[in-house]
Amino acid sequence: MSRYSAFVRILSLALLGAPLAAASPARSADAAPAAAAPVASTSDHTMWDLTDLYATPKAWDESYARTKAAAGQLGAYKGTLGKSAQDLAKALVAISDLNREAARLYTYASLASDQDLRNGPNLERNQQAQALGTQLAESTAWVAPEILQVGAKKIHAFVAADNTLKARFDYFLDNTLRGAPHTLGVEAEGVLASAGSILAQPDTLHSILANAELPVPTVTLSDGTQVKLSQAMYEKYRQSANRADRKLVFDQYWGAWKKFEGTAGSMLTTQVMGDHFTAQSRNFKTALEAAQFPDNMPAAVYRTLVAETNAALPTLYRYLKMRKRLLGITDDLQYYDNYPPMFKLDVQPKFDVADSERITLEALEPLGDDYLNLMRKGFSSNWMSVYPAEGKKLGAYMNPGAYDVHPYLLLNHNGDFTSLSTLAHEWGHAVHSLLADRAQPYEKSNYSTFIAESASIGNEMLLNDYMVAHARDKQEKLYYLSAGLESIRQTFFRQVQFAEFELAIHEELERGKPLSGERMSQMYCNVLRKYYGEAEGVMKINPEYCIEWAVVPHFYYNFYVYQYATSMAGAAELTDQILKEGAPARDRFIKLLSAGGSDYPYELYKRAGIDMATPAPYRALAARMNHLMDEIERLEAEK
Ligand SMILES: [Zn+2]
Repeated sequence: MSRYSAFVRILSLALLGAPLAAASPARSADAAPAAAAPVASTSDHTMWDLTDLYATPKAWDESYARTKAAAGQLGAYKGTLGKSAQDLAKALVAISDLNREAARLYTYASLASDQDLRNGPNLERNQQAQALGTQLAESTAWVAPEILQVGAKKIHAFVAADNTLKARFDYFLDNTLRGAPHTLGVEAEGVLASAGSILAQPDTLHSILANAELPVPTVTLSDGTQVKLSQAMYEKYRQSANRADRKLVFDQYWGAWKKFEGTAGSMLTTQVMGDHFTAQSRNFKTALEAAQFPDNMPAAVYRTLVAETNAALPTLYRYLKMRKRLLGITDDLQYYDNYPPMFKLDVQPKFDVADSERITLEALEPLGDDYLNLMRKGFSSNWMSVYPAEGKKLGAYMNPGAYDVHPYLLLNHNGDFTSLSTLAHEWGHAVHSLLADRAQPYEKSNYSTFIAESASIGNEMLLNDYMVAHARDKQEKLYYLSAGLESIRQTFFRQVQFAEFELAIHEELERGKPLSGERMSQMYCNVLRKYYGEAEGVMKINPEYCIEWAVVPHFYYNFYVYQYATSMAGAAELTDQILKEGAPARDRFIKLLSAGGSDYPYELYKRAGIDMATPAPYRALAARMNHLMDEIERLEAEK
């Protein structure tokens, strides 16, 4: 949803040949909100201090030159991995240390660039850092094949005999050995590494069309306002209380996309073909299987997620019917009726940064002192760029890329409840990284997307409960209850809806069927009709809006959205357990976060008492949604 943006995650271990610059995509499928005017604050910690990373740009340049030169020398370790445990450790330490420095270089470059996207030298540094990531990936493409050549037996003996290997690389080595059936020879691995940049082009094409070149229509709203329908303006005016305006905005915005249905279809087809190509090259049966492999995620998790979400659709229908009643709609509910708020406040509550920090700390009290102290330390440091500014990147993210320094956070705080909620969310990511970095060596600190949203969304849930409990009056209670509801629709149901569509187009190709923009729109319509209950009489889906798939960047991220949705269900069950059980559940949660990326996410969840392949987490989320609606109905009945 609009308030969430990129949770930038830099791969800390490019050993597996993944490009360093593969920052993970924006966390949900809508774009960042437009920047608004700054709000005065009493906090002095509103601008990040990049000198914690490098004292001067010159220091950055020097480290860059050193790291680049050292990356050029990594070939010297080729052929040494099987010699002895010490040789293996020496090579892995050298590679890992370079990756660690490269991640720090990239963190500095991307933060500086995001602070002012118009700054040429910063953009250049950013490109240099990305190129260094690619260079590192290419110059270590031989590592995995060589480890496999040495063989599991010898590698396990090495790990048992060497403390460095045991402490820092056991998980990596285990994961690499697990990849034997899917790792090719040195030559083929080199070809695949080189093909990486070609396979990334559909995403670039989509981004250029969506963000720059799509001709944007201008509409005249009922009050005479003329609006140029960029994505940000579309997101603003689709919330309009005037239904005719909402319809106009939808008709024009999606009408503009509809003209590019063929182009968008070809771009996405190319992406799906690329996923299929990579999967096939690596001996996977399907693109989904390939996407699940790096996390060792059981196939049952995807199936359970989809099955349980389908089973929970009556809960979504209940919400949609409530929405229809509260918006006073007497004919068919339409897709453009999803966005206007059900409850409005006469005076919008305002939260400056100091308020937001104080409220977040109070709301998160159930998470205990360890968690809160890390947050307090961050609040009193210069880790955040808080306010919107000319040329600054929109949205919000936490960047954990500098393991030896601290997380950095980018916000665009404008004083509304969304800004408060975003702050709580991004600090969930920050505390997660702080806990993981404290407990794990660099090589095991980088956590999976499956777990990444559990702290951030858990924070939001606790914040929402707090706002409801501390609301000044009934109307404010209703406002926060409905905000919590809409959050579940957008961050869970909408993501699973995307996940079903993503799987469907991949399967269509894998069955040998042709894909096209028109076919994708049909398939997307089918998913929408199910999710919004057309057959059940809940909502009418206008096929003209079924081009929505064309705008979603996440379909270029290779099965990302389902990881996100899974993470949200995990957050719901964890939050539930913490509120019911207290300390024991809280300790399991802190342990889960502290585990970082030291094991496969499915196993880590299980140790925290959560089995993502069972219905429980998804049912906890549906129960939460029903509870919010029960509360709304109870308050309404009080009248
Ligand atoms: Zn997030």
